[in-house]
Amino acid sequence: MKGIPSCRLPDGTTVARLGIGTWHMGENRSARAAEVAAVRLAIDLGMTLVDTAEMYGDGGAEEVVGEAIRGQRERVFVVSKFYPHHASRKKLLAACDATRTRLDIDTLDLYLYHWRGNVQLAETVDALESLVAAGAVARWGVSNFDVDDMSELLAVPGGGNVAVNQVLYNLDRRGPEFELMPLHASRGIATMAYSPVDEGRLLRHKGLAAIASRIGVSAAQVAIAWLVRRPDVIAIPKAVDPAHVHDNRAAADLVLDEATLAELDRLFAPPSRRQPLEMI
Ligand code: NDP
Repeated sequence: MKGIPSCRLPDGTTVARLGIGTWHMGENRSARAAEVAAVRLAIDLGMTLVDTAEMYGDGGAEEVVGEAIRGQRERVFVVSKFYPHHASRKKLLAACDATRTRLDIDTLDLYLYHWRGNVQLAETVDALESLVAAGAVARWGVSNFDVDDMSELLAVPGGGNVAVNQVLYNLDRRGPEFELMPLHASRGIATMAYSPVDEGRLLRHKGLAAIASRIGVSAAQVAIAWLVRRPDVIAIPKAVDPAHVHDNRAAADLVLDEATLAELDRLFAPPSRRQPLEMI
């Protein structure tokens, strides 16, 4: 088993290019032990970037992550997100405190604006920069920001400090490749790909299954390997089933050859024009 490749963030920090997502964790107490175990397994296997949000399980997912990282906080890169209705200066400080309390950590490694709301971007960026200055957050980013949102963000004071844009990006949702990802690349901003197996839908794709079976791996491995082959893309598949966690880890060792990449391009065509950013 090789190591997990890393992605370099604009401030020079390197993070695992393959992590674990936690949407739908923390919703049900009876599932909690399995969820904590899945996050711990991912970390043990080197998927040390953990993505969560105050929204997931109404704070429950952050508590799951808090329990999973207890005693090993320094090994993990913790990402959480705030609601658009918490994007004002006053509400953001309180939301960040609540998130850090649930995670039981002093400093979040990355704090993301979950999707854009009505607060002026300049106010939110200013509040995020205050959180960085106070040591509550090491760096910040955004999520579900399309090209126009990113351009506006980059124009406000401090907006250029955005580290990451977390977007829906997988084999079947390649729209960001046309204009958004080139914009990210021009500024050194990492693309964090959410729903890397399209919430499971990609795993039922017959053409993808045929490629996977020819190579002798799972469809999830092909879908995830396709994402993390790029140094500027971080994938955060969510899995509770330990077999899925192991399967996803194996994707980091899978190198797709040129012929397979070309076949994937035929099955899942790259975008030929700008498309609005999709969102789940
Ligand atoms: P994913 O594409 O990660 O799919 C998750 C589903 O696929 C689960 O049902 C999981 O099952 C299953 N699965 C995972 N790996 C495998 C495998 N190897 N074989 C078979 N099934 C598998 O969808 P998500 O929407 O959860 O996206 C990932 C993460 O991205 C989220 O958890 C969240 O952290 C983030 N996200 C962010 C959004 C945003 O707006 N910023 C929006 C959506 C997601 P099981 O759990 O049973 O193992």
